[in-house]
Amino acid sequence: MTEFAKADEIFRRLDAERKARIHDDTSMQCKVCWYVYNPQEGCPENQTPPGTPFLELPEWWTCPGCGSDKNAFLPCEDDEES
Ligand SMILES: [Zn+2]
Repeated sequence: MTEFAKADEIFRRLDAERKARIHDDTSMQCKVCWYVYNPQEGCPENQTPPGTPFLELPEWWTCPGCGSDKNAFLPCEDDEES
């Protein structure tokens, strides 16, 4: 396996793990400007209708606060009620 393929594999695994933690109703926070995307509210700034899961946002979607792409977002840990 080449170094590139290895890095690619690690990236893919991290991506899968990250996505496994994102559910349809998970609020996502931009780690650059702290904007929070709430799937129940959608994102009027980006013409995103309420009820749109973060993982179903279109490819062109960027943070309405700072313009970062979706990779800048992390699940809101304190959003969980358990
Ligand atoms: Zn942002």
